[in-house]
Amino acid sequence: MAERARARTAELRVEGVTKRFGEVLALDGVSLAVTEGELLTILGPSGSGKTTLLKVVAGFEAPDAGTVRVDGAAITTLPPARRDIGMVFQNYALFPHLTVRGNVAFPLEMRNIARTEIDRRVGEALALVELAGYEARLPRQLSGGQQQRVALARAIVFNPRLLLLDEPFGALDRKLRETMQLEVRRLQRRLGLTTIFITHDQEEALVLSDRIAVMNKGTIQQVATTTEIYERPANDFVADFVGESNIFHGTLTEPGVVTLSAGRRLMVNRAGRVGDRLGVLMRPERFAGSGANTFSGEVLEAVYLGASFKLRLACADGLELLVRQPARGTLPAAGQTIEVGIDPDAIHVF
Ligand code: ATP
Repeated sequence: MAERARARTAELRVEGVTKRFGEVLALDGVSLAVTEGELLTILGPSGSGKTTLLKVVAGFEAPDAGTVRVDGAAITTLPPARRDIGMVFQNYALFPHLTVRGNVAFPLEMRNIARTEIDRRVGEALALVELAGYEARLPRQLSGGQQQRVALARAIVFNPRLLLLDEPFGALDRKLRETMQLEVRRLQRRLGLTTIFITHDQEEALVLSDRIAVMNKGTIQQVATTTEIYERPANDFVADFVGESNIFHGTLTEPGVVTLSAGRRLMVNRAGRVGDRLGVLMRPERFAGSGANTFSGEVLEAVYLGASFKLRLACADGLELLVRQPARGTLPAAGQTIEVGIDPDAIHVF
């Protein structure tokens, strides 16, 4: 099965797709390419257009403008059943009256495949999701995680060209969700299946993805590898949405120096043009005891988080900083003044 699936996997291109629902512009000229065998997550807040984009790819929504291509061929007007796309949604959507076998066999029966072949493929798909032996159970006799594995088996059993997953683990508890994330990753790699995974959970996106597309208000803000998204976000929205951040704005007053509105001069690794307006991002965990830029601040809040201390500091010039330090020694007390530093290399300028 792995070989067959690998041979069928495809490249997806979304080109200038726009979709309106009355007054709401759900997708505003979205373009995106997912390469063969890649797992791309679409990460964005509620209402940013993630599900609408997936529905356009699957054929459940027709775009007002734009084109969807699989391996170069436009499929924008093809009905969903002819697109050869496997899908899994948040709310399982298994047929409650059908057994596990019946559920997984369904897409094959729709395609008029011979019974012996169906048995063989259902067996393979259930083995892949580690549910061999569960054929005769009904969905209500399965745990949430097992139900999602059946949904996954049903989505891959017919060797689709693409796999689309819309917040498939949203209803599961944290531990089970983490297990399922690793399983999906393993399965997707093994089959080499081109996959889009929707989530609003940034940790989930970081765990799973080859690349992440960050969406906001119907537009794609940045598409990049997980490290790139975290270390070098393209703008405030991405910097703020993925991970914890200290974001400030200022002007490049000389090469390598950004002066913030409060008057503070920050040493950065950026030449650029003097006078440029720039954003700076300092991740809380990049601060150390000392550095080329030092901040002295009063502790407003200190939280013990097991592996780290999370501190909110107020500096004399009005800057407020979120800082994470490895949890060593005693937790600083509120009101105490402490000093932290950060080197130019640890500051991202955008
Ligand atoms: P969530 O994470 O909450 O599922 P999302 O990013 O998937 O959000 P979409 O479901 O794609 O967002 O919705 C994008 C926008 O389009 C929202 O403002 C939503 O209210 C609107 N919308 C989606 N479907 C319809 C519809 N059938 N009719 C009217 N408006 C819709």
